[in-house]
Amino acid sequence: MATIREPAREIPVVHDVDVVVCGGGPGGFPAAIAAARHGARTVLIERYGFMGGLATAGLVAPILAHTASEAHTPIVEGILREVTERMHALGCAPSWEEATQEWGIRFDAEALKVVIDEMCQEAGVTLLLHTLIVDVARKGDAIDAVIVESKSGRQAVRGKVFIDATRDADVAHRAGARTTFGRAYDNCPEAMGSFFHLAGFAEVDAAREEELRQQVEREMEDSRFQFYNPGFLSKRCAYHGDHAAANMTRFGGDPTDVTTLTEAELSVRRNVWELTRYLRATVPEFAEAYVQQTSPQVGPRESRQIVGPYALTGEDIRAGRKFADGIARGSWWIDIHCPRGHAYPVHLCTADCPMGADCDYWVAEHERMPASRQDLMPPKGDWYDIPYRALLSVSVPNLLSSGRCISATHEGMAGARVMGTCIAIGQAAGTAAALAVQEAVSPAEVDVQRLRALLRQDGQLI
Ligand SMILES: Cc1cc2nc3c(=O)[nH]c(=O)nc-3n(C[C@H](O)[C@H](O)[C@H](O)COP(=O)(O)OP(=O)(O)OC[C@H]3O[C@@H](n4cnc5c(N)ncnc54)[C@H](O)[C@@H]3O)c2cc1C
Repeated sequence: MATIREPAREIPVVHDVDVVVCGGGPGGFPAAIAAARHGARTVLIERYGFMGGLATAGLVAPILAHTASEAHTPIVEGILREVTERMHALGCAPSWEEATQEWGIRFDAEALKVVIDEMCQEAGVTLLLHTLIVDVARKGDAIDAVIVESKSGRQAVRGKVFIDATRDADVAHRAGARTTFGRAYDNCPEAMGSFFHLAGFAEVDAAREEELRQQVEREMEDSRFQFYNPGFLSKRCAYHGDHAAANMTRFGGDPTDVTTLTEAELSVRRNVWELTRYLRATVPEFAEAYVQQTSPQVGPRESRQIVGPYALTGEDIRAGRKFADGIARGSWWIDIHCPRGHAYPVHLCTADCPMGADCDYWVAEHERMPASRQDLMPPKGDWYDIPYRALLSVSVPNLLSSGRCISATHEGMAGARVMGTCIAIGQAAGTAAALAVQEAVSPAEVDVQRLRALLRQDGQLI
């Protein structure tokens, strides 16, 4: 490949603060709020003009893992509960008590955007929106600054502690920190997917809904559509009843490769419109249906994980393991969407996958794979802890990870990646960063029992 040499240049350091939070998604925004509330001068850098990550830019909903496995006992509160209550006050989410009785927390992404804006501003977080992190400057093993690009040009943001909540561990990767990618067998990450909102259709009752679901499923059996499930009428994700929020699309590939990302966007939009045209033509109640919106970005479920002193595993999830340095709780199961991107009837990587011997991964691994979906769950009514060690980097002393890029195996991340868990991890990462700054120690030297006590004091369930 041809190359060009960029000339070296001086760039301005536009902020010099205590804590730099990189990314404003479920792993990032709670980290910034918690760090700032604990007195750290905090900057949050986000490439979009709004925060929320996949909860807003991916239309992903509901927020899962707020309660114990297959139960209604809350396991995450703190900032998650506060966000829910603020959205409820706007008429855009259930009350906290109602939410604990549901499978996940349904919400309106527009309300989430403004609630995060307000909470960050009230806490005193300095926001840099429309700002992409493109590189890091190092001082020895540590990060000195992140390099950003925006309409204001190329700039640097210097900090004492950096929290990588970019989902793809962009900061760690640029800093040369050890990371892993996808599953160990072939480095394939879980498949991507995209939510879309469908509106303009006539109300259908439960019996008709089931009939239509089966109609679409038959078309999937005949390979007319490339979806992994036929749930186009799903209302259990959306808060407002004027649209359905569907999570059916699937695309396998590397979400850190821009050519693959481009193909994924084109593919999921094509799939959504194939379905919409089909419904308009064949289902009278859908004659006037329209695509209200597709998510602004396709959603990657997995990519890089930062290597920390401990990696959360699938066994930790299945056993509901607790750790002395537990700083957050998760309850979602080992939910691996076929990394090869196979759609219906394939869903999960289990020994009973219908691909069987047609998949080389299945051939190599099926004896070690969980037999069925039930074997992927934590014990009923229980949860697993996220250990603080999974937020540290073995390579970069002033780096913490948060959200979807913490230290975990392919199976471990398949459970910990959901938003309720990411928000709990974020609160812990921000609190730990503020403690490290206060005590003038590295994140690895933070007194974890003091961190746990502070999190409890701030309403988190630890
Ligand atoms: C199809 C799909 C369905 C899902 N379903 C559910 C579900 O139903 N419920 C649930 O709870 N979870 C679900 N998840 C999982 C969940 O959405 C994510 O794992 C979670 O959002 C991860 O949070 P995060 O903050 O780590 O990353 P993200 O939500 O991706 O946030 C990362 C943020 O960092 C920003 N960023 C990234 N790189 C840079 C950079 N270089 N510079 C500046 N900013 C940057 C991004 O713009 C983004 O705002 C789903 C995921 C997918 C893909």
